[in-house]
Amino acid sequence: MADIIKQKIEEKQDVILEFAKSLIRIPTQNPPGENYDKLVDRIKKELKSEGLEISIYSKNNKPNLVVRWNIGSTKTLHINGHYDVVPATSNWTYNPFEPVIEDGKLFGRGANDMKSDLATIVYSIKILRELKLKPACNIELSFTCDEESGGIDGTGYLVNQKLIKPDYALVMDGNDRIANAHKGVLALEITVIGKSCHAAWPQRGINAFIGGCKLSEKLNELNQKLSKIKSKCNTRETIEKSPTLVLGGVVKGGSKFNTLPGEFSFTIDRRIIPEENIKDAKKQIEEIIDKFKKTNPEYGIKIKTLLEAEPAFTDENSKISKILFNSIKNIKGHKPEFSLLPGFLDMRFFINDAKIPCVSYSVSGNNAHGDDEFVYISTIFENIRILCSVILDKELGL
Ligand SMILES: [Zn+2]
Repeated sequence: MADIIKQKIEEKQDVILEFAKSLIRIPTQNPPGENYDKLVDRIKKELKSEGLEISIYSKNNKPNLVVRWNIGSTKTLHINGHYDVVPATSNWTYNPFEPVIEDGKLFGRGANDMKSDLATIVYSIKILRELKLKPACNIELSFTCDEESGGIDGTGYLVNQKLIKPDYALVMDGNDRIANAHKGVLALEITVIGKSCHAAWPQRGINAFIGGCKLSEKLNELNQKLSKIKSKCNTRETIEKSPTLVLGGVVKGGSKFNTLPGEFSFTIDRRIIPEENIKDAKKQIEEIIDKFKKTNPEYGIKIKTLLEAEPAFTDENSKISKILFNSIKNIKGHKPEFSLLPGFLDMRFFINDAKIPCVSYSVSGNNAHGDDEFVYISTIFENIRILCSVILDKELGL
C-alpha cells in the first residue's frame, strides 16, 4: 500500500507543487489579516471534486474551513493547519508572493509556515480517495485563520464553540520533530507613571523613564532564577528547557528631548514551560512590581495583559503520538524525536480546551517568519506519505 501511495505522489508532484505555489501567491498577511476569503476559496476549489462535506465557520468575518470525511467510525482524527502568514519585509531576494524553486527548495512567504503543509493535508486526502483507500476513522480537516495573532478567531473559535469535537488532533505546524508540547506565553505591557515637566527644571517632575529602567533591571534579575528551572520535556537545545523573560520588545515614552518623561512603558514576553502556568508566572512578576512600588512610592504602575496562552503537553505514549512516531519512523527510516517547542501553536486549543491529545509535525525548511523563507520540496512529498500512513493506521479507529 505504501508503494502505491508513493507512486501516486510521484505522478502528482507537479500538481502538488503548483497547488502549494498557488497558496503562497495569495498574501494572507496577518497583520492585517488580508485575503482570507480568497485563500479559503482556493482550498475549497481543490477539494470540490472530492464530494466531502465542506463547512465554513466565520468569526468576525474571518472564515475557517472545515472538511469532513465521515466513514461512520466512532472516532475522529482532526488535522489542522493555519492559512495566515506573518508579513514579509522588503529585504527578500525574491518576491515573497511569487514563489520560486531553486536547488530543491521552494521560496516564498509561508513556504515553511505553513502553506506547504496545507498542500500536504489536501493532497494526502486527494490521493487516498483517488486510490480508494479508506481512513481508519473519520477524518476532519480545518484550515484556520489568525494563528499568527493568537488563533482566538481561528482554531480557538472552532474548539471553544464546539464546532469540532474530535478524539485526537494533528497540527501540521512547527518543525520536523514531533512537538508533543509547547511553551505558553504571558505578554504584558508595564507603564510607569511619573510626572512630566520642563527639562530645565527636572526637580519639578518625576522621571518615568528612570523609574522604568530601575524596574526593568529588577525584572530582568528574574532571568537568573528562570534559567535554573528545566522542563522534563525533550528540546532541540538544552537551553530551550528553561522558561524565559524578554523585556522591552516594545518601549514607548517621552515626547521631546527637553521634556522630562511623565510616562514610560515597556513590554514583557514571559515564556512558560508545561510544568508552570500563567497564574503563577503573573504572580511572580506582580511581586517584583509590588516590591518596587514600596521602595519607589513616587511612581504609579499600570499592568496591561497583551496575550495569555497556556503551555500545552501531550504524553509521548498517547495513541496519536505513537501513530505519528511510527509513521515517521517507517517512512523516513529513523526514529523522530519528541520535542517541546519554545513558540506556541494552535495545539493548545486541542489539548487545554478540547482536552484531547494533540501533536504537531511539519515540513522542513528555514527562515519561517524571516526573509527568504523556504521549504525543502522533498519534505512536502514525504509528509504526504506520513499523513497517509497516519490516516490509514488501524489503531485510530479502536
Ligand atoms: Zn505556523
